[in-house]
Amino acid sequence: MKAKLQTKLFEQFPWIKSVHGSRFAEDGFSCGDGWYQLLYDMFLEIEAAYAKSSGTENRSSVGQIKQKFGELRVYIYDVFPEVNDIISEKQKVSTSICEQCGKEGKLERRTGVFQTLCDECVESNPQYTMR
Ligand SMILES: [Zn+2]
Repeated sequence: MKAKLQTKLFEQFPWIKSVHGSRFAEDGFSCGDGWYQLLYDMFLEIEAAYAKSSGTENRSSVGQIKQKFGELRVYIYDVFPEVNDIISEKQKVSTSICEQCGKEGKLERRTGVFQTLCDECVESNPQYTMR
């Protein structure tokens, strides 16, 4: 993900700040720009879940965020069960959002790896069409 977009997420959601020595501290968001909005919504929903349960303090922090087998993978250090539900839902949704541009996409196996992409991104990137 572009540095500019990552900075926006860090500014908007300071609590995601990385655990010292975690993969997230090293790599940041290891996925395409197309999932920016999905991640933004996910962090908002996590905040809302905490806000609803009065007395539960948000102590979440991110261990790793990446693309794997074409899906969004999020590892957050947290014990609040609702957070896991939110993450599982976003992981499912990620397989219908183009990882490159954020438009409607589909999970497909291309050039030996799984990727979630829209038709336009596939056409404009010749490396995706080679089988
Ligand atoms: Zn696309």
